[in-house]
Amino acid sequence: MTAAVLAARALVAGYGGRPVLDGVDIEVRPNEVLCLIGHNGAGKTTLLKVLFGLVPATSGELRLDGEPLARPTPARLAAAGIAYVPEGRGIFPGLTVDETLRMAAWAAGVPPQERAARLEWVHGVLPRLREFGPRRAGTLSGGEQQMVSIGRALLSRPRCLLMDEPSIGLAPKLFQDMLRPIRALQQSTGMSVLLVEQNVREALKISDRVLAMKSGAIIREAAPGELADNAKLMELY
Ligand code: ATP
Repeated sequence: MTAAVLAARALVAGYGGRPVLDGVDIEVRPNEVLCLIGHNGAGKTTLLKVLFGLVPATSGELRLDGEPLARPTPARLAAAGIAYVPEGRGIFPGLTVDETLRMAAWAAGVPPQERAARLEWVHGVLPRLREFGPRRAGTLSGGEQQMVSIGRALLSRPRCLLMDEPSIGLAPKLFQDMLRPIRALQQSTGMSVLLVEQNVREALKISDRVLAMKSGAIIREAAPGELADNAKLMELY
């Protein structure tokens, strides 16, 4: 079997000595959308941050392509093709969308001669970003800003995208408008996506596998179809 792109075993992590993750096992496999759900404060964001090297693990093991990853840092993970879309968009409101994307191309180390083509490729995936180009990001709606944040992450052409609640504040239709192109890209390229979502109904429509988290641990793995019934879903909360 092909190794997981990113994996963690018995992961423990927290803040100021207080554990938040309490022995988490997770595998993000090639060519899948893995959806991570769970109540507020369950530790979903913390898990993404540990996987991207932003929060150190107290103990446990991280693996990248099956190889132990002793000292994960965002730079190391980004160089390995992992991209992170943080919760809350993380855009600079005063920069235009074009400026934001150009800066991201520079930050992702895209060689100057390839930047125009790379931007074109991102515009191909998320065509509305072309239309928003001259606008300051702060003048866009929440969903539009989220699209910029995703576009920025795509500039590195990641093979694994870690997304933290991209749907926050979005109506179901906007959620699908935003994430359907990512699902299509994932299916055509074999990319992996780890999607943290509270908007479970919409997220399940574009997921291959679901993990439910509670109080810092993974309590259940399911196929999206198994959670279609509301009662089943409620058992997890
Ligand atoms: P939500 O769905 O509300 O975003 P979550 O499942 O993503 O929640 P986390 O954000 O990982 O949960 O938070 C888990 C716990 O860790 C919470 O109790 C939170 O208060 C705490 N926590 C998160 N970040 C920090 C921090 N920087 N310092 C101290 N405690 C933190």
